[in-house]
Amino acid sequence: MIRLENVSKYYHNEGVVSLGLRKVSLEFQIGEFVAITGESGSGKSTLLNVISGIDTYEEGEIYINGEETSHYDEEDWEHYRKNRVAFIFQNYNLIYSYTVLKNVEVALLSQGHDLKTRRAKAKEILERVGLGRHLRHRASKLSGGEKQRLAIARALANNSDIIVADEPTGNLDSASAKQVFALLNEVAKDKLVLVVTHNYELAKDYATRVVRLFEGEVVEDREIKPFIPKEPREQIPLKMSEWKKSAAVALYNVFGQPRKSILLFLVSLTTVFFVFLLYGLLLSIGGGFGGGYYFESYNVYPERVLVIRKDKAPLTDEDYEKLKKIPNVKRVVKEDAVLDISFYLFDSRLNFLLHFAGYPGFLDDYDEKNLIGRFPEADGEILLCTYVYEDDLGRLEDYLDKEYQFSLQKNSTDGRYISDDREYKLVGIYAWSEERSMAVLNEGEIRDLYNYFRPGYQTFVVTIEREWDTTEYHMISDFFPDSDLEGYQISSEIFQYYSEGTTFKWQDLVLEPVPWDGGKQSHQAYVSWELYDKIIPFEHRQYTLELSREGDAKEVLDRLYREGYYSFCPHQHLRNYNISAGEIILKMIITLGIGFSLMVIYLLSYLIFRAIFNSKVQDYTILRIIGFKNANIKQIILFEILTFFFFSYLAFLLIYHFNKKSFEMMAAYGLRDFLFVGLINLLLALLITRRFILYHRSRSLFAALRIGG
Ligand code: ADP
Ligand code: MG
Repeated sequence: MIRLENVSKYYHNEGVVSLGLRKVSLEFQIGEFVAITGESGSGKSTLLNVISGIDTYEEGEIYINGEETSHYDEEDWEHYRKNRVAFIFQNYNLIYSYTVLKNVEVALLSQGHDLKTRRAKAKEILERVGLGRHLRHRASKLSGGEKQRLAIARALANNSDIIVADEPTGNLDSASAKQVFALLNEVAKDKLVLVVTHNYELAKDYATRVVRLFEGEVVEDREIKPFIPKEPREQIPLKMSEWKKSAAVALYNVFGQPRKSILLFLVSLTTVFFVFLLYGLLLSIGGGFGGGYYFESYNVYPERVLVIRKDKAPLTDEDYEKLKKIPNVKRVVKEDAVLDISFYLFDSRLNFLLHFAGYPGFLDDYDEKNLIGRFPEADGEILLCTYVYEDDLGRLEDYLDKEYQFSLQKNSTDGRYISDDREYKLVGIYAWSEERSMAVLNEGEIRDLYNYFRPGYQTFVVTIEREWDTTEYHMISDFFPDSDLEGYQISSEIFQYYSEGTTFKWQDLVLEPVPWDGGKQSHQAYVSWELYDKIIPFEHRQYTLELSREGDAKEVLDRLYREGYYSFCPHQHLRNYNISAGEIILKMIITLGIGFSLMVIYLLSYLIFRAIFNSKVQDYTILRIIGFKNANIKQIILFEILTFFFFSYLAFLLIYHFNKKSFEMMAAYGLRDFLFVGLINLLLALLITRRFILYHRSRSLFAALRIGG
């Protein structure tokens, strides 16, 4: 099976050359149990290392099943070790954080066995070495003899032809040592077992052959017992992908080492949190800038989106149904002009709400304890939402169920200014924390207000035709419906200056001016409802959409555009277009700061990850001994770090979901932003992994073993 021919090995250390092996020629077969003895420093370990490909040799040749090995590179040796060699050490080299069962299972995994087979075979082997009662115990809890038997079990799991054991009983008492030798003897029936030992007495009782070294040379090679030679077994590699193996080991590590994992999870959770925070900051800069101009003229809040059809035609019921079905659209407000009516309340009785100037709106998520009274049910009832201290709420009870005079005003997009005074019965007050205040009305009242305040899309121009004279035009910009007028009656200051016989027309309709009762300016007029309906047809040219979340506005806006609408988000408009040069510079500085902070977070989390992963390096070395390749180790580290980041990302989303109020910095997040932050975190995880792997690069197994063991 293995043949060494004049193999020599020298160590070069800072100019000093020392001898490891000199012209060693040996041949071993499967079925042999070889005890290698000799004084300390005689080259026993070197011989094992050279045979198992852990160390190189300078002269001579080693044949494995007749094949020369002098041309082998590290990958060939890896392959050879993985398939042919299992190791047993004086210091056991177990993964102590794993259970007994896992230590064996992971060796079976390196061979590519599936979960079920791993479990069954591991149990069977552990029974065989007498550890059947310790399956679920941590490896660290075993006695020395038990640890070495576990190491043998693991070597058996490797299903190799050769077991090399370097002083396996060096740390054991004589009873345990005997057990270990007995076990190795049994194992040797269908393997080649090479054992380095000082204990000649034990070796003599169990081994089939003794090889003694002295100063790197074979000085004795004696068969002491007959053995039955066997052929190397057929290699039938199992078909499990290397990625899958690595992923499985990563899961073993993540869930098998709870203390380290919790620590790593907390570190990655903190990292994920800061990335979310910083990106949120990036999204929101600009939000605090800009003037308040739009706040005065529009009811501007983040969830409001204005929609018109691309063809500018009135919106239909079909549009209404279509818009309602768009994800993240909570409500479609047909009477959207109502949302731009300001309500002013000047009433000395209501001291607290004296300066109330709010817009009508909808109160969906409300807290019962901040409400006194009730929601409006009948027409003419009103609930006010405004900034009131919770403690003051009780004292306001007295003001409920009384009528108050409100002054309603609206600047229309068509340039009109309309106002009206109305009495409302105050049925409820809600104390909320928003900066704006708001009036809540019932649906009938909202429709009624829309009827009155509806926006017009054409200009009201009166044509004045006088006998013997030219035609004049007069524009009336503010006009109001008046129930006392009918037909084409109109009341305004301008009409009184014209002599009899003058005709006033709007389009083809002849107007009937009624005597003016004073008070109105020349650009104002009262008209009958009939005329009002003609000048401003009752149709909806614009709807308001209320979103469930502000952050997803981008997606909704894109979708609306695709479906044939123009839309406009007044709040974002404010955010994006009212920024001065100074603010742009500030924005750049903040952006740079955020980028810098991100780098700091990356470095910090890398250092912590490295510190914790350094304590796992020993385990990775052991995995290589068991038969995992260097490439596997890289994948395992990658999977472990990715797992922590993935779970941290999920955990953070969960925390956020149940605590939205505490994460104000994320108000502007849309679906895309969540995905983008996920990507940033993925990138961080990859960078950390790469850096860590580079940090530990180019350590041969030999070097790793010497440092680790
Ligand atoms: P044994 O296992 O029989 O005690 P070793 O195989 O460890 O002996 O060592 C054999 C000889 O090789 C010793 O003289 C030792 O000093 C030398 N040697 C072993 N490893 C190294 C090394 N890494 N660098 C230099 N010399 C070494
Ligand atoms: Mg040694």
